[in-house]
Amino acid sequence: MKQETNQAGLLGFEKIALAIARIKNYCSGKRVLVAFSGGKDSQCCYHLCREAGVDFHAEFTVCRFEPPEQINFVREHYPDVTFRRNYKMTLVDEIAYRGLPSRWARWCCNNKHVKTDGYDITVLGVRAAESAKRRDSWRMFGQKPDRTFYLAPIIDWTEEDVWNYLNSRSIPHCCLYDEGFRRIGCVCCPLAITKKKRDWERWPKIANVLFLGLKKHWRKAESMGGISKSGREFTCLKFGTPEKCFKHWLLTGSTSPDYKPEMDELPCMFAGTGFSESDGVHVEGIGE
Ligand code: SF4
Repeated sequence: MKQETNQAGLLGFEKIALAIARIKNYCSGKRVLVAFSGGKDSQCCYHLCREAGVDFHAEFTVCRFEPPEQINFVREHYPDVTFRRNYKMTLVDEIAYRGLPSRWARWCCNNKHVKTDGYDITVLGVRAAESAKRRDSWRMFGQKPDRTFYLAPIIDWTEEDVWNYLNSRSIPHCCLYDEGFRRIGCVCCPLAITKKKRDWERWPKIANVLFLGLKKHWRKAESMGGISKSGREFTCLKFGTPEKCFKHWLLTGSTSPDYKPEMDELPCMFAGTGFSESDGVHVEGIGE
């Protein structure tokens, strides 16, 4: 069978050997954290670290927007992975307090970016082929904004490399991939506008939780006369009903009727870490 080569002309098995060599070089003797999500890329990192023979711990930082299938898959197949929950409120209460996360105020990812203390290096399943943003922002080895070191051992792998590796070792994968999902990540992410309708239909219970949170936020906004303690206007009230506001949010990722597509967004802090499918043009998907 013909094997895919990368830009350096490497065959699949050579890429695996190179990824393992990278892990050995950068991680041996270090306190290693694997950022794990149950997605195919982080699975590769987990199993490559095992093959490299380095000691590591894998951690899944939950933000409460994850599909239940993803959580269940990790629980069933990776019992050694720990779940980190950095939030203090239920999702409904946090939405009631802050409003739905928007393209300009993505508090949903904040808890993902709290540094896990006690590690020298984090292994991430970032691949350059996933998006233009990842290709431009990430290297095989570097420092994250919090100054901690990271290694992306499969940075130069294609999607096909990933599946070839997992399948060659009969490693199970999350059932969402069998439904046609090419990546798994947050449900109704405000940045992944084209995926929101699909998510809303696929996970109506999660969409309902989000709507319940918005309704609570709405009641709070009304009780405060439409102005927050800091003098900020609750723009959601301009829609007249929570239903109309929620529909607008699903279509645009914004709870303001003044939303303009060309307005600058804050970069998703979480984008590019192997969890999010919201970080820009999907290079691998072009033309498929
Ligand atoms: S990927 Fe989207 S929903 Fe998930 S944490 Fe980032 S901005 Fe929020």
